Amino acid sequence: LGGSITRALQQMSNATVIDEEVLNDCLIEISRALLQSDVQFNLVQDMQTNINNIVNLEDLAAGHDKSKIIEEAVFNELCKMLDPGKSSFVPEKGKTSVVMFVGLQGSGKTTTCTKYAHYYQKKGWKPALVCADTFRAGAFDQLMQNATNAEIPFYGSYMESDPVKIAVEGVERFTEENRDLIIVDTSGRHKQEAALFEEMRQVFEATKPDLVIFVIDSSIGQAAFDQAQAFKQSVAVGAVTITKMDGHVKGGGSLSAVAATKSPVIFIGTGEHMDEFEVFEVKPFVSRLLGFSSELMPKGLEKVKRYMTIMDSMTNEELDSSNPELMNESRMMQIARGSGCLVREVLDMMEYYKRCAKLWSKVKGLLKYRRRVT
Ligand code: GDP
Ligand code: MG
Repeated sequence: LGGSITRALQQMSNATVIDEEVLNDCLIEISRALLQSDVQFNLVQDMQTNINNIVNLEDLAAGHDKSKIIEEAVFNELCKMLDPGKSSFVPEKGKTSVVMFVGLQGSGKTTTCTKYAHYYQKKGWKPALVCADTFRAGAFDQLMQNATNAEIPFYGSYMESDPVKIAVEGVERFTEENRDLIIVDTSGRHKQEAALFEEMRQVFEATKPDLVIFVIDSSIGQAAFDQAQAFKQSVAVGAVTITKMDGHVKGGGSLSAVAATKSPVIFIGTGEHMDEFEVFEVKPFVSRLLGFSSELMPKGLEKVKRYMTIMDSMTNEELDSSNPELMNESRMMQIARGSGCLVREVLDMMEYYKRCAKLWSKVKGLLKYRRRVT
């Protein structure tokens, strides 16, 4: 999506004279790219109209950089599409907040619940997980396993079939324990169906969550708008999390979810692992989408950049050591802290190091050179 829009903008700015026709062609190309990415038709149409209204080529004095103005308008309109204009409820550390996750089966709720809990736990919060999914066999096992891996307290039952009862008991228990973030995972269904929405409403009424987070799979496509709207109509959705942003997706459909729920996207999931979870911010996301900033680095390069930060925390001797595996654990933790990375990443780096020792010797040389000159 980003690539096609960027190309359209590029073509526009290459034109010798930027007139209405060039602008129109550019907007048609952008609209096509958005529609192909499953952004809802009405949203695309609005965007086109808005840009046409904002960019008034005839009124622009000769000195103006027209392509820049158009680029900015496109950027702002894309941001507007993703920005409902209001923020969601923000939990407060030390107070008890209840957050309920809803979404279709397979959208990534259970995974996202754990990621969300883990994200806050890393910041020193005391989260807890409640499994109110009694519909899917194995749901409790899955949550229990995730929670155990992340060392997060959990509540659920193999025997109880009433999700409302479990949700209430879990929330009560963790409120008594002064947990500051009680996360309620709910069941989904394959389709949007009345039974699911009824169950959701009941859990909502019984637990009175401070925030309902709607989880949507980024590959959902055209169906996203209707799906998001159906959830919003059944329960007070306050925020959106988009999952599977790492896959080969069109992604645009999930952007429509923002418009449908009038709620901000707060996180995105970028993989199955607990740490593959990012805070979502509109402007950096759109910049990245359009390739406006250096943030648009291929994943591999990003990794190298991160590894370089880690290496920056190592001494020259450690860099020289031909066998980084000899480094002890406490030193490893020290390096992780020093570089703001996880120990896992330090380990990954070393694994990587072993595989490409030759390349790294060059990087090391560069680093040491930089240390000499700075
Ligand atoms: P639920 O039915 O809504 O609770 O969905 P689950 O949490 O069980 O997730 C369904 C599948 O999607 C699982 O295989 C997850 O590992 C996978 N999944 C969830 N989030 C992501 C993500 O951000 N990226 C990728 N690649 N897979 C994900
Ligand atoms: Mg689940």
